[in-house]
Amino acid sequence: MDRRFFLTTLALTPLFAKESVGNSNDIYLSYGEFATLKSLNSRLKRLRRFIGYANFNIVSFHNALYYARNYSKIGTFTKPELALIEKLFYEDQAQYGFFGAKTCSNMNNTISRKDIVKIPHTGHFLFKGKPQEDYAKIKRDIGDVLILTSGVRNVVKQLSLFANKIYNCGGNITKATIQIAPPAYSYHTISDFDVGRVDWGYRNFTADFAKTKEFEKMRKLDYIGMRYKKNNSDGVRFEPWHVEVI
Ligand SMILES: [Zn+2]
Repeated sequence: MDRRFFLTTLALTPLFAKESVGNSNDIYLSYGEFATLKSLNSRLKRLRRFIGYANFNIVSFHNALYYARNYSKIGTFTKPELALIEKLFYEDQAQYGFFGAKTCSNMNNTISRKDIVKIPHTGHFLFKGKPQEDYAKIKRDIGDVLILTSGVRNVVKQLSLFANKIYNCGGNITKATIQIAPPAYSYHTISDFDVGRVDWGYRNFTADFAKTKEFEKMRKLDYIGMRYKKNNSDGVRFEPWHVEVI
């Protein structure tokens, strides 16, 4: 990373100090791209506010562009923002140390309402069929202390999580891909979902979740898998909360 840029971002945003320390081989966004990332993040947040949290999970890229173009509260995506989105979607992620399978090759992927079901009080959806059945069984086998913390995520939602993670990593894409799958590589786009303790909030998305009784019970369920085990070959961190639909 360019040292001047590193010091500038560090000075501007002390928050970066927490997550920006990476390895020397890590790949960062350029200074210009980082500025674009900030404006993209803000636009995606405005879109989320406009269409609502639950809808934001499933909105297609095509419709996101439509809303942005037609509602000044969001504002049209700029050319640099679109170029950055394409880069994050289409780039070969192996250069960043991410080796997961591609789950979605169409940036305009649409998720039909008839194929998903909204889970009350969560703001999230599940795909009908095996994912919905698995979730019902998990609730039956472990109890209502477990809830859905993230379900179906289309390209725009995954993009927003990924872009936000890169931002929090001070522009370090390599570091971001360890913590969250890039937009074309999330199993949330086709099947998987996350669960957590109803009273745990953000802690559900930490390794602490693996110490809970609920996780112990989940490991014994033979109808689900664990997508991101410790030291997995995808290059993703250990994610005990992420349910693999098998
Ligand atoms: Zn997940």
